[in-house]
Amino acid sequence: MGSPAYKRILLKVSGEVLAGDQSFGIEPKFLHAMARQIADAQRSGLQIAIVIGAGNIFRGMAVAAKGADRVTGDVMGMLGTVINSLALGDAIEQAGVPVKVYTSVPMPTVADTFTARDATAALADGYVVVCAGGTGNPFFTTDTAAALKAIELRCDVLLKGTKVDGVYSADPRTDPAAERYETVSYEEVIARNLQVMDTAAFALARDNGLPILVYALGDADGLMGVLTGRTRSTRVG
Ligand code: UDP
Repeated sequence: MGSPAYKRILLKVSGEVLAGDQSFGIEPKFLHAMARQIADAQRSGLQIAIVIGAGNIFRGMAVAAKGADRVTGDVMGMLGTVINSLALGDAIEQAGVPVKVYTSVPMPTVADTFTARDATAALADGYVVVCAGGTGNPFFTTDTAAALKAIELRCDVLLKGTKVDGVYSADPRTDPAAERYETVSYEEVIARNLQVMDTAAFALARDNGLPILVYALGDADGLMGVLTGRTRSTRVG
């Protein structure tokens, strides 16, 4: 197996990954499978920061669509990311790797409030760092939080796992003519609205020169496969 080309990475995990084949909540089998992949990657010498979504619990837009206030819905979503972050942090520790969970929504009895300074020091000390609470603001997504934290923590790359093995010109699960990109520019994903992450996330990455690797979460080689180049991915940069 080749060595990863990166030293410090940020991994974006969608909430849905933790739900596995359920539509809501956390399925322990999938939680621990993800945690083992992360622990293995950390043991290979990588510094790893993680941002988790909450699609398995609440999304603000979905809550608002049922009549609630959007800001309240988004706060519910951010609290969902804290639940997922605590669960994943615990599972990574069970896999034998030390973890620090920080939150951008201050709740001092639950986790330390995120600062780039503390989180960077924790990464350098060998902790896996889990960043909960998204950006701490409504009307953003955890994709944007992932780009933001990756830049703040000076990560070499942002890894975004999806249901397919890279960026396509259309959804390959529904459009047989969809073409896969090996590499694609930030400008093109934004201009063509390629829907892998939201525009704010791509714009932040573009303005700060942060490369993004999009890969299939279901790939048997997982995270290490992407990092060593065995598993195919699309590089956005
Ligand atoms: N959220 C927010 N601000 C942020 C990040 C997230 O308000 O900076 C809320 C928003 O309602 C979002 C929800 O938290 O829908 C869960 O995040 P996301 O939809 O990105 O989760 P994922 O799709 O990755 O599971």
